[in-house]
Amino acid sequence: QTSTKPPPLPSPLRFSKFYQSNMRILVTGGAGFIGSHLVDRLMENEKNEVIVADNYFTGSKDNLKKWIGHPRFELIRHDVTETLLVEVDQIYHLACPASPIFYKYNPVKTIKTNVIGTLNMLGLAKRVGARILLTSTSEVYGDPLVHPQPETYWGNVNPIGVRSCYDEGKRVAETLMFDYHRQHGIEIRIARIFNTYGPRMNIDDGRVVSNFIAQALRGESLTVQKPGTQTRSFCYVSDMVDGLIRLMEGENTGPINIGNPGEFTMLELAETVKELISPDVEIKMVENTPDDPRQRKPDITKAKELLGWEPKVKLREGLPLMEADFRLRLGVEKKE
Ligand code: NAD
Ligand code: UDP
Ligand code: UDP
Repeated sequence: QTSTKPPPLPSPLRFSKFYQSNMRILVTGGAGFIGSHLVDRLMENEKNEVIVADNYFTGSKDNLKKWIGHPRFELIRHDVTETLLVEVDQIYHLACPASPIFYKYNPVKTIKTNVIGTLNMLGLAKRVGARILLTSTSEVYGDPLVHPQPETYWGNVNPIGVRSCYDEGKRVAETLMFDYHRQHGIEIRIARIFNTYGPRMNIDDGRVVSNFIAQALRGESLTVQKPGTQTRSFCYVSDMVDGLIRLMEGENTGPINIGNPGEFTMLELAETVKELISPDVEIKMVENTPDDPRQRKPDITKAKELLGWEPKVKLREGLPLMEADFRLRLGVEKKE
């Protein structure tokens, strides 16, 4: 006699993997600057369903307005320091304020976001068997004594300074990622992101590229923090998103530096913005904040070899794209 019993139901955890061709992807911090560009790219693939979890501290729904109501998209107001129950295949964990003025505003909250937030996302990854990518930062190298910075460099970080909530927070987040990997077999990916710029950055975000462009458009002096000889390397956001997706899809845990190795002093950056946007504007030297790294430039050998990735957009090409976005948002038209 043949059994009339129905076949066992698939585990709900594995449902999306085996019974649908869709990939369900969680992006924490997806309403922010890098996160919203990542969501745009992920949504272009019709096989992806994207869930964003964000508490809107520095992000906004506006950054995602073109996806709100889309059948493959879901937006949840959620703080990652609280437990999150969703069923997903991949987690891009970006939630964390990135600009010094915001991460210093409530440092205890920043460290909770980095530590408890990452722990929760790892607990989620463990429960549902998802692969998780952490957006760490070049700040884990602190004020580096090795230049440029390879991933093997352990850093020079002040554990009790005003930036520590962010840089030590990200260092603990990296530790948690590797402990969950070793102890529980979680599939992890760690990107060490270097300074990134592009459209949708908060206009009053306080970071140097957004400050200089907004100042140039408002006809205000460009505020170069002393000594002005400190260096940074700026990566355009489309290159960054490309690097993050390659890292997620590839076979390497990282940490892998993702950034543009083109290195500029802050004075050079100010001169470039002045030349491109507003030649009449002045450059003014102002006081700096404590623990400001004196130099920063990624060694991207690993990203090139392991991900086949390198940035394509040069600073002089990316700045005008950001200028156009800031003009629209500030209502400043370009004079011909
Ligand atoms: P952002 O501030 O624009 O985005 C961060 C997002 O996280 C925002 O939408 C914010 O509302 C959200 N968020 C913050 N705390 C949260 C919490 N507790 N729960 C839920 N959501 C929360 O910053 P960004 O530039 O897009 O940075 C994204 C990630 O990349 C961050 O993890 C940051 O540390 C990292 N990163 C960025 C840079 C850079 O130059 N932009 C450099 C290094 C690392
Ligand atoms: N967690 C979560 N979503 C889940 C599973 C876990 O947010 O789907 C959180 C949970 O609140 C816990 C953390 O992740 O505090 C770590 O989970 P794990 O199972 O690793 O540790 P435990 O709960 O055993 O301490
Ligand atoms: N900076 C500056 N003028 C500004 C804002 C920042 O000269 O209006 C300098 C700051 O001192 C630092 C560099 O620009 O040396 C990058 O600062 P940002 O806050 O953008 O990023 P960080 O790399 O410090 O996280």
